Order: sequence, then structure tokens, then C-alpha cells
Amino acid sequence: MEVHRIEIPTPYAVGTVNAYLLPGSPLTLVDAGPGVPGTWEALAEGLARAGVRLAELDRLVLTHPHHDHAGLARRVRDASGCRVFAHPVDHARLRGEPGVWEGIVGFLDEVCRRAGVPEGYRRELRQSMERLRGHTLPLDEVEPLDEGDEVCTDQGCWRVLHTPGHARGAVCLWDPRERTLISGDTLIPHISSNAVTEPGQGTFRTRTLPAYVASLRRIRELGCRRVLPGHGEAMGDPTRLIDERLAFHERRAADILRRIPPGGAIPWDLVRALFPGVEPGWVFLAVSEVVGHLDLLADQGRVEWDGQEGTWTVNRRGREDVGTVGREDGRTLGR
Ligand SMILES: [Zn+2]
Ligand SMILES: [Zn+2]
Repeated sequence: MEVHRIEIPTPYAVGTVNAYLLPGSPLTLVDAGPGVPGTWEALAEGLARAGVRLAELDRLVLTHPHHDHAGLARRVRDASGCRVFAHPVDHARLRGEPGVWEGIVGFLDEVCRRAGVPEGYRRELRQSMERLRGHTLPLDEVEPLDEGDEVCTDQGCWRVLHTPGHARGAVCLWDPRERTLISGDTLIPHISSNAVTEPGQGTFRTRTLPAYVASLRRIRELGCRRVLPGHGEAMGDPTRLIDERLAFHERRAADILRRIPPGGAIPWDLVRALFPGVEPGWVFLAVSEVVGHLDLLADQGRVEWDGQEGTWTVNRRGREDVGTVGREDGRTLGR
């Protein structure tokens, strides 16, 4: 089965995004690119190279609701009448239901507030989120896609794997015959995926990085021969890459642990030490990175950290020797 890759430009730091046309009928596209100028033409040209017109698409499968993947979904649906599928946890967001986007912005702002991020940064965050809002037009209809479902064409079936972490509703498509995985942003060759902080169900926030690490371990066990990622080139057996990513998260957690002074720290101290040049508009990514690694450290029993309600401070646990400590060192390392 030959999957056709369509590379679409984005205005984001991540570079281009990949959409994939599955072989066979019904005609199925996976992801669609962001809703910004120039991307529609790139998608149409990519499909034309595969001998397909946009209007002929039968189905659009979204790996997750981020703008670079779901932005054009509404236009694709309007142009083709195709059915659109995504994980149910993201349907309200994809439909643009009243208050959902405001809820996301309010949640990220509150995460940053609890993490100690200054108001100036948070103001820019709210403004940049307002600009992003227009990059995805709301869908009128979206259908569920969840663990255990199959996306079948007359050439074969792809199993849906729910792989939360990078997004709560992230899914991968797995072809067990060809041992090929369409990984969305859950596994990208050239960058480590951010486990973006998201609201919890019954808790203030979801512990996204521990979930992401579990998803990576699950993919490692699949025995993939080929991975088609949401960004960058296709790759072969991803075992080594996954091991590198898991080791990276261990190293980053240890680095953060070293920067916690004996009296404890607030996440913002750690964000500044780790990402001294963080862009205010994207500060929630840096906060997610620190908060996620604090979750990993808490699971290992190395810090006292909850990061749900109340004031967010983190303290080391026990007397583990983690090397140099102190705010001064943190500052030096952060340059
Ligand atoms: Zn994403
Ligand atoms: Zn992406």
C-alpha cells in the first residue's frame, strides 16, 4: 500500500506539516494543514500530484486538533462534502462551540498564573492565542474516532491507536500488515514533541508528559517498520529514536531537579533557567515542558509536587545527591 505524502507550509516554528492520502477507496486524507494563506493551494497541488481532486475526498481523519493539522478541515469538508473524524475529546473544540476557545485560553493563562509567570508574559500569551484562533474554522460536523476503531479502504485497514500526550485526543493510524504507523505529532524525527498542558477530567489539569511517555513506550512495542510523521521525512524502525526521546526526558528531568534550590522553587524560576529567551506568546509551551518533567520527577518520588490546586511550589524529596544546587548556578546554566 503506497501512502501519498503532501507537504504543506505553516507559519509556525515547526516548519512544514504532512498530510497523507491513504491508498484505495473511499478516498481518505489524514490531516489537512493550517488555515492560513497559501496552504489550500499546496494541499490541492499535492492531491493533484496523486491524481486526486479535492472535491473527490470522501473522508478526512484528524490526528489531533492543533491548527497545523486541523486548520483547513472545514474548507476541505465544504469543498468535498467529506466526513471528518477525530477523537471525541476534541469535538467541542473542533466544532468551535461557544466558550470552548475562551476556556482553552483561560486554562493556559491560569496554568501560567499558578506557575508564577508574570502578567506581561500572560498578556502576550492571551493576544497570541487570539490571533491563532482564526487559523482553524469551526467544523459543522465531526464524527468519533477512538482506540480500537478501524479506518478501512478497499486496500486494507488502519487501526486507530489513542496515544494521548502531545494532545489529549492524539491518535495514530497503524497498519499491522505493512507495520506502518502514521504518527501525527506523537513521534516526529527532528524535534521532541511538546506534551502541551491540557485541562483534566475531574482535576485541574491532565498530567500530559507521563501520558506521552506511556504512548511512546506503547509505540516502541508495536514493531514498526516505517513511521510517517506529522512533520518531517518518513523513517524506518523508530526504536532508537524512541529510546533517544525517553533518555532526553530523563536528562531534562534530572536537569530540572538540579536547578531546584534547597528552599524549593516555583515553576517560573525553572522555566527562566531552562528557556531564558522564551517568547511570551508561546510561554505555555515552556511552562508545559517544566510542569511535565516535574510530574515525571514526582512519579519517581524525587520531588514533592502536585501542580493542581493552590500555589505551585516544588521541593526536592530525600537527600539524593543531584549535583550543584542554588539559584546562582541556575542562572549561570540558564544563559
Ligand atoms: Zn500538534
Ligand atoms: Zn504539528
